[in-house]
Amino acid sequence: MINIYKSFSQRWQNVVRRFALSVWRHQDDESEEKRYFKQALNFSRDYRYDLEKKLADKGIHVYRGTLDGKVNDWLTRQKAMADTIRVMATDRKDEIIAKEIEKLQKNKDANVQEEIDRLYEMKQNQHVYKAFSFEDHFEGASDRIGDDEAFGLGRDLNEEAIRQSTDRYFWRKQNDNRVRKTHEKLADLCFLFLNPPTTIDKYGNKHTGNPGTDFGCRCWADPAPVREKPKRNYVVKE
Ligand SMILES: [Zn+2]
Repeated sequence: MINIYKSFSQRWQNVVRRFALSVWRHQDDESEEKRYFKQALNFSRDYRYDLEKKLADKGIHVYRGTLDGKVNDWLTRQKAMADTIRVMATDRKDEIIAKEIEKLQKNKDANVQEEIDRLYEMKQNQHVYKAFSFEDHFEGASDRIGDDEAFGLGRDLNEEAIRQSTDRYFWRKQNDNRVRKTHEKLADLCFLFLNPPTTIDKYGNKHTGNPGTDFGCRCWADPAPVREKPKRNYVVKE
């Protein structure tokens, strides 16, 4: 089973969490950013090495350079992600302050204006983080990014590596209760990379794609031998 994302996900979540915390506290200076990029490099190298080893155990040998492009794409995305995290933190703080002010305005207390002024000042001086903790307001979002990005790297490397030796795969799902119903129905069926299945959820949303390409999907492709008969133009409905 080539599903190494679970054993790697926590590590990348921890790196992103540390960086997001520094952003939340306005301490994301040059050294913090350098550290984050360096860890991205180490992480992608280790992930790739482990995946290649697991594939070799299955008799699939990935040639040197095959995965370089995918690793570089991922590293470029992590650089962009640093800026995304900064924008997200600012948006989140604006949202928190706006909500607090709204709450206060419903209050008829005489000290309300004073409190509103205090909030504005906090925002002006970027001290929002002192009153509103990272753990309560930003950690969840940061962990989701770490998890998504760790999965994304695995999905891209896995697919690229498998496609070197076969044109088809078995659809595999994670074993948790977050798997969507349509993907439960695809589990263990064989498809061609060039003819992936289509899913239609109960709202009529349609998606055609290989494992892990739909929003929030953590399914993955397991190499199938060329003698395996694939399903073509396959559609499942919720
Ligand atoms: Zn899925």
